[in-house]
Amino acid sequence: MSATPLVSQVNSPNFGKSELIGPLLGASVVELTAWVQEQGQPAYRGKQLHDWIYDKGVRSLGDISVFPKSWREKVADVPIGRSSLHYRAVAPDDTVKYLLKLADGEIIETVGIPSHKRLTVCVSTQVGCPMACDFCATGKGGYKRNLSRGEIVDQVLTVQEDFQQRVSNVVFMGLGEPLLNTENVILALKALNEDVGIGQRSLTISTVGIRDRIHQLAQHHLQITLAVSLHAPNQALREQLIPSAKPYPIEDLLNECREYVEITGRRVTFEYILLAGVNDLPEQALELSKRLRGFQSHVNLIPYNPIEEVDYKRPNRDRIQAFVNVLQQQNITVSVRYSRGLEADAACGQLRTSKR
Ligand code: SAH
Repeated sequence: MSATPLVSQVNSPNFGKSELIGPLLGASVVELTAWVQEQGQPAYRGKQLHDWIYDKGVRSLGDISVFPKSWREKVADVPIGRSSLHYRAVAPDDTVKYLLKLADGEIIETVGIPSHKRLTVCVSTQVGCPMACDFCATGKGGYKRNLSRGEIVDQVLTVQEDFQQRVSNVVFMGLGEPLLNTENVILALKALNEDVGIGQRSLTISTVGIRDRIHQLAQHHLQITLAVSLHAPNQALREQLIPSAKPYPIEDLLNECREYVEITGRRVTFEYILLAGVNDLPEQALELSKRLRGFQSHVNLIPYNPIEEVDYKRPNRDRIQAFVNVLQQQNITVSVRYSRGLEADAACGQLRTSKR
């Protein structure tokens, strides 16, 4: 029998069964138990393996001291699926940016954001991003591949170990478009919930909107938070900022969001980047309010974080407040998110796969 673990996929006929191809990280206790049994070990070793991978953060099966020595040596080279630290930078606000090296040498970015008792991790879901939103640094660097569920879970464990503190929240807002990698993202959400122990309500995925994918996500009835990057009150401006919005009109996107709210009972967050003179006018705030009227939602305004390649500007505080006032007058719940980590190039939209 081979000691090579296998990865199960949602769409494979063996989903939920024991078949594993690839690293162990991301696997459930059921999958790990089946795998140890395939190796001729008793079932309880599956739970032990699970504890060592997720709680103790073991990096080699050879180090699991509760395993019999002969078996430990035999499986010592089976990959667990942990990344290695390539670079780490701490911003003055204590946000930590990590560049992590994956098994195939690709580099991704992860951010750890401490605040009071909370520790939030911003995870990447792809190496690069194919969406090419005009204001975002990630898209400028092109796209390489999707991340596996284990590579997503690894980022959370890495930050948890570095801070020596339990991660309380995870936001899927790093490199990549999560709904272009729906299968692995859903598997990662399940592993973060069931194996790492983070509540579903403390998990947020952010999407620019991919046709039918919000509909698909809703079928899983997760209690996670869905954030949708709207960024414009109408189709014409939206497709100017987000090229992928062209074949997917804003009304279709909002209809999928409405269905999501109906199916899951969870309100949707709309993210709206504020670009001075582009989408921050009071009349645009009014147009946005009208579009969202009667919708169980929340608007999260993100003042633009500068990137090198384009010359957008962040509006000043008065302009931002004026935009907020219009939304509030229209009874739209709104908050302003000043991104953390600006000085370490770790803020929203500044993530790329380089150290600069
Ligand atoms: N692909 C996902 C996750 C992206 S990052 C998505 O589009 O939602 C999370 C948020 O940061 C998105 O709302 C994104 O539009 C926003 N963002 C991108 N570039 C930014 C910038 N330069 N300044 C502020 N926010 C930015």
